[in-house]
Parts: sequence; C-alpha cells; structure tokens
Amino acid sequence: MNYYSAPIESLIEAFAKLPGVGKKTAQRLAFHVLDMQEQEVEKLSEAIITAKRSIRYCKFCTNITDQEVCSICSDAHRDASIICVTEDPRDVVAMEKTKEYKGLYHVLHGAISPLEGIGPEEIKIKELLTRVQQGEAKEIILATNPNIEGEATAMYISKLIKPMGIRVSRIAHGIPVGGDLEYIDEVTLSKAMEGRREV
Ligand SMILES: [Zn+2]
Repeated sequence: MNYYSAPIESLIEAFAKLPGVGKKTAQRLAFHVLDMQEQEVEKLSEAIITAKRSIRYCKFCTNITDQEVCSICSDAHRDASIICVTEDPRDVVAMEKTKEYKGLYHVLHGAISPLEGIGPEEIKIKELLTRVQQGEAKEIILATNPNIEGEATAMYISKLIKPMGIRVSRIAHGIPVGGDLEYIDEVTLSKAMEGRREV
C-alpha cells in the first residue's frame, strides 16, 4: 500500500534506485526536493541531464569525457609509452591525485566476473588491444582491483599482451586484498605503482 500520492511515490522510488540509498533516505531526499525552490529543482534536474548527455567515452582510453579525446590523452606532456589499465574512471582520478604518474590510462569499465556473467567482451579489453597494436606503448601497468575479479582480469590481459613483446606489470600489493583502488590513500597508491612487478 502506498502512503503518498503517485508523483511522490515515483520520486521516492527513483531515489531508492541510487547506490547506497535505502528507502528511508529516498524518502528524506524526495521530501527535501519538495521543499526546495522550484528554480533550484530545475537546476538540479538540468545538471543531471546535461552531465548524462555530454559525457562520452574518450576514443583512445575510453575514460569518460565531454570531448572526443579526453584531456589526458590530448596532453602532449604525458608519456605515451606507458598505459595504466584501471577498472573504473574513479581509479584514474585516484591515480591522478598521486601526481606522480605521467603515463596514459585505459579504462575497462568493469572486470571479468564469470559469477556475474561479465566476460572479456563486456569490458573494454578489445579497445585496449587495438590501441596497443597501433600505438607506441612499451609498458602496460595492470592496476585492476586486488580482488578475484581484478586479478582474473589482469591475468587475462597479461596473457594477450605479453606475446606482443610489451612489458606487462601489475601494481604491487600493499593495497589491501579485496580493496577498492579508489579508496586507497595517495601514498599507498604511489608505493604500489613504484613497486609494480613484471608479470
Ligand atoms: Zn583518453
């Protein structure tokens, strides 16, 4: 049984679909929106739609960007001989915050997970291979998360790229097993990059 009118119920439902938002929080957010000035609500909904419509994948690294080529790939000062492979755009941000890495990235948008039915075709591995074949990369750093899926993905990519005669390395442990790259502090992440080992 619904306690609220249909428009409020559907607003609550929409919020409840967001990650980390339970029914109670969804209700609080919905009522907050109803209390907001109409102009503020318009700004909020416009920001959501604009972000969604203007964001696309960089044609080289598949990171999210509002340009055809992202700001990192188009930066001539970056070292194009190294590509750091991450699962998520947020991992790139984490890596950039260390201010030490000067190479390029490749964002997979996920990791191989047979349990969840995510195979190599579902993430951006093909794009990485094409890029490696055509580009000037000499080293690929696998910075997928240190959990089962991340390790499986790193192994899979390594097996495909090593025969091309390109150095493949995996970021060092020290990152807590099962941890998520984006939540690791900058010092630990810098150390993990420094201590990377060839695989
Ligand atoms: Zn890019």
